[in-house]
Amino acid sequence: MSTPAASFLSSSPTDLSRAAELLRTGHCVALPTETVYGLAADALNLAALAQVFTIKGRPLLDPLIVHVLDQAALAEVAEPDARLAALASFWPGPLTVVLRRKACVPDLVTAGQATVAVRIPAHPVFRDVLRLSGRPLAAPSANPFGYVSPTKAVHVSDSLGARCPWIVEGGACTHGVESTILDLSVAGRARLLRPGPVTHEALQAELGPIEVVTRAASQQAAQAAPGMLDRHYSPATRVQLFARGATPPTASGKVARLLLARRPDLPAGPTDFYLSEQGSAEEGARHLFDLLRQLDTRGFDLIQAELAEASGIGVAYNDRLTRAAAR
Ligand code: AMP
Ligand code: MG
Repeated sequence: MSTPAASFLSSSPTDLSRAAELLRTGHCVALPTETVYGLAADALNLAALAQVFTIKGRPLLDPLIVHVLDQAALAEVAEPDARLAALASFWPGPLTVVLRRKACVPDLVTAGQATVAVRIPAHPVFRDVLRLSGRPLAAPSANPFGYVSPTKAVHVSDSLGARCPWIVEGGACTHGVESTILDLSVAGRARLLRPGPVTHEALQAELGPIEVVTRAASQQAAQAAPGMLDRHYSPATRVQLFARGATPPTASGKVARLLLARRPDLPAGPTDFYLSEQGSAEEGARHLFDLLRQLDTRGFDLIQAELAEASGIGVAYNDRLTRAAAR
């Protein structure tokens, strides 16, 4: 007997009203955002939140990001912070901020911490569903815990199958890597917990100096930011990294090469795959998870992947690839 499939909804007004109604009545719905697809649930409904953890196989100690429509809705779940005014230009957008939580936010969302991660997403479909449901929506990436995040609706059904009963089709995600996470939960201190589409430099231009939490430090505080665990975003196939423009190391077995762009300096191989036309890190990031997922189904022994220059979104691209390669 074949497994029942997930049901797809379109982004028509009727289907989005249906998605909002499902969320209001305690169901989970996968929704597109500008970063990756999220598995959304009412952030104030314990039964709905419990389903998110079950569907993803996510440890209860990994806190969820709460998505809201605007700063007024944000103030209902998090304590105000004067620094938010300086971040207004990044919202709606791919920026998550960690703040002191309001009492209404369940422990399941925050992993029992006094802080909550909040984001005002930009994707029109996600915003319509926020407006129609009238609820704050907790939405981790819609993938099995630890696997590569989904950047297309089909990735959600491929890896969660019927465990995720509803998926709204919203096309491919623009950024393709998860949101930037900025911790403002302690007065007078700003820390970058996860690099993403909103860069460290852009945030510092508005806020002044921001400390970058290193991988070693985040390992010690693993439950404060488990998205920072070394091995995360990982395909089953082994991944080996090489520097931008370098020659990939010699390797045996069936090897795929994932390159940022065509490389006239390298003899082209039959199993070369290109992430962008011109070598742009933006385009590379947009296609990275899709390519990793495709290559993971093709029986390669090794994926050799080219790093980007470590500036702009290249920092987030390199961060995700480095974690995909961690064993
Ligand atoms: P995901 O939505 O799957 O991209 O993962 C969400 C990530 O947000 C978590 O794994 C944490 O790294 C981070 N996060 C969520 N809530 C908090 C919080 N209260 N404090 C620090 N980090 C958080
Ligand atoms: Mg995730």
